[in-house]
Amino acid sequence: MKTNQILIRYGELSTKGKNRSSFIGRLRDNIRHTFSDLGKLQIQAERDRMFINSDSEEDLEQVIARLPKVFGIQSFSPVTETELSIEAMKKAAVAIIGKMDTEGKSFKVSVRRANKQFGMEKPEILQAIGSSVLSTYSGLSVKMKDPDIELKVEIREKAAYMTAEVIAGAGGLPIGAGGKALLMLSGGLDSPVAGYHMLKRGVRLELIHFFSPPFTNDRAKEKVLDLADKLSQFGSSVNLHIIPFTKLQQEVHKQVPDNITMTSTRRMMMRVADKVLEQTDCKAIITGESLGQVASQTLESLYAINAVTTTPVLRPLISTDKLEIIDTAMKIGTHDISIRPFEDCCTIFTPANPKTKPKLEKVEYYEGFVSFDELIQEAVDHREIIKFPRAKKNEFEDLL
Ligand code: ATP
Ligand code: MG
Repeated sequence: MKTNQILIRYGELSTKGKNRSSFIGRLRDNIRHTFSDLGKLQIQAERDRMFINSDSEEDLEQVIARLPKVFGIQSFSPVTETELSIEAMKKAAVAIIGKMDTEGKSFKVSVRRANKQFGMEKPEILQAIGSSVLSTYSGLSVKMKDPDIELKVEIREKAAYMTAEVIAGAGGLPIGAGGKALLMLSGGLDSPVAGYHMLKRGVRLELIHFFSPPFTNDRAKEKVLDLADKLSQFGSSVNLHIIPFTKLQQEVHKQVPDNITMTSTRRMMMRVADKVLEQTDCKAIITGESLGQVASQTLESLYAINAVTTTPVLRPLISTDKLEIIDTAMKIGTHDISIRPFEDCCTIFTPANPKTKPKLEKVEYYEGFVSFDELIQEAVDHREIIKFPRAKKNEFEDLL
């Protein structure tokens, strides 16, 4: 008796008509990528479900632990293989149910007897397995319709396969199925969460961060690197583009009145992002903006910022409350990184009274005295690009 297979039920993608086979292929590739550190897994993708097989039980335990992070999966179940004897099946049934919470739960067994040569009829099998489970776990009661726990037994040619536990998947769509977009990643709470929401909708991420040394230090940068690393743990690698932003920010401060520097700074970020987007085959920009959260996130501000681009700007958090964002940040493991107290380039230059209703014409008027094009191009050309997940550190590196 061993767990040697995991059965995967697709999420929303099973309804996606013609794209279905490419979605399924994408999910299979993402699973391969996610578990590339393990020994060889056999992945068999069928129309309605997928099976992962491995000879190593340890590897399958790893798969079970990490699979809930992979998007495009509705639920999955570990499958136990037993030899073709009723005694082996009874023993396996008791072991499988023993891993679950049985107190006060309803239960049923169902059997598929694909192997017609098997020496017992279906009712006998049901009876034998059912009674050994029920006599072991007194908290269970039988219920034929919608039981809490259903033990499924499939008797095939060479072995029997049994499964009961249904583990929730991450839902969403497989990453990459929705194309690629450029996430503006600050060191704050919101933007990593915005990135997570888009990953969940199948969008592959490219990351861009604006960095203003010496006003922001290396520890602020380290925070962003750690956030990027977290975002790369959802089954797809990401590139982070770090943009030297100091000169542009200083130029903005020279040219525009204090109370609209925030708007203008954001417009410069968008213009730089647009250039990086062209070079990386992204089709949209993503931000962590949430309506009304700060001065730069009023409708008037968004209008003035957005005017520099025709690229779609996706703002998955626009209607989300801060508390919901914090909840998600905790769930995805970015919260503790985001709250580390290091200044972001924007907090440093934040004026005392930023305009909550900046006028586009006014911003354009002041920016119009200089051409920012060269500084923008220079920032793009001098960016640093880092790939995540970062290469694993050699265990002995410290000793060398
Ligand atoms: P966050 O928590 O994501 O920093 P915030 O509520 O602090 O958001 P702002 O600082 O006004 O809001 O930033 C709004 C959005 O602009 C961010 O969510 C992010 O997408 C982008 N942004 C801000 N600062 C930077 C930066 N230094 N580099 C890249 N993107 C940034
Ligand atoms: Mg911020």
